[in-house]
Amino acid sequence: MASEILALARPEVPPLPVYNAGLSSAAVRARYGVDRIARLGSNENPYGPSPRVAEALAGLAQQVHWYSDADSQALREALARRSGATPAQIVVGNGSESILHMLCLALLSPGERVLTQRPAFGLHEIYPRMMGAEVELLDLTPALGFDVDAWCAALARGPKIAMLANPSNPVGCLFDTAAFARLLDATPAGTLLVVDEAYVEYARLTPGFPDALPMLRDWGGAWIVLRTFSKAWGLAGLRVGYGIACDAALVQLLDRVRTPFGVNIAAQLAARAALEDEAHMRQSVARTVVQRDGMLQAIEALGLRVAPSATNFLFVDLGRPNGPVNEALLAAGVIVKPWKEPGFTQFLRITVGTDEDNARCLQALRAALAA
Ligand SMILES: *Cc1c(COP(=O)(O)O)cnc(C)c1O
Repeated sequence: MASEILALARPEVPPLPVYNAGLSSAAVRARYGVDRIARLGSNENPYGPSPRVAEALAGLAQQVHWYSDADSQALREALARRSGATPAQIVVGNGSESILHMLCLALLSPGERVLTQRPAFGLHEIYPRMMGAEVELLDLTPALGFDVDAWCAALARGPKIAMLANPSNPVGCLFDTAAFARLLDATPAGTLLVVDEAYVEYARLTPGFPDALPMLRDWGGAWIVLRTFSKAWGLAGLRVGYGIACDAALVQLLDRVRTPFGVNIAAQLAARAALEDEAHMRQSVARTVVQRDGMLQAIEALGLRVAPSATNFLFVDLGRPNGPVNEALLAAGVIVKPWKEPGFTQFLRITVGTDEDNARCLQALRAALAA
């Protein structure tokens, strides 16, 4: 039976890796018998969203028999006001991952070329492969930064789409303003630049991080900036992300391939409420950035190499296989993300959590390294 099912698949699909979402808290509790879990595996904001979100969601049970607004109009207007774009340039998705999905569905034919880095955010690679595109992966520099020269040279070869996470997930490195300007100069017409700014709210606190929107507007090529409510805004469980596109025509293309009611009522309401309390978001981001710098020093003091990070996570080189260390952390109730890609199986990506979670993580890491 299984082989008959496989024969039904498009040839691109069976070889695709399944997205590595990591272990759930419930699975770790059950498997290791621990009650307290430090969730440091998925770059969530441990401080959660503004209290206004809970207020906005309180009356929701009375509305759930109605479909959501398929155009997310009120949310798009709010996002347009903040970004200086028009609502017609904004696309909202069930997480920004769904916008990556729409872009690949709408733009990629088999054999077309997509450019990204290694290690990458998994979906920057998986969705293009789903369409039969060829994915070129650029290596990091030895100092765990972006290789700007290699990026410029590869962009000049005119891939259909360049997936550029700034800052990078899982590494945390960034293209600064000068590097970003060079990338724009190198990108020919006919290439869509997808600038994934999932961590922009954190990265803005790192000197040199580019203000990409005005630079992209001046540049005048084809681009879309992706952002999300899942990280700094604390709404990962509700799934809502958005894109700001160079032109309404790109949004209209995505409208043809997206699921019409993909952004549910709770997600639309919560995102609007969160936007009304930017101070809450900024506070939690400022706190996390201070904790990140503390964690970086503490992990380096254990003798490990850590990539500089403009985000809410750290990419840590253990100098040994990550499997046993990860097992020891799980047994202590600490969930992080052990990288599985060849070449990076000595790395852990550790999300910055609360002081208590960070302390437990450090203690477990110290014990695991001593074992
Ligand atoms: C977390 C993340 C996203 C996806 O976020 P959604 O939850 O789907 O909005 C997209 N890109 C990068 C680089 C991320 O780290």
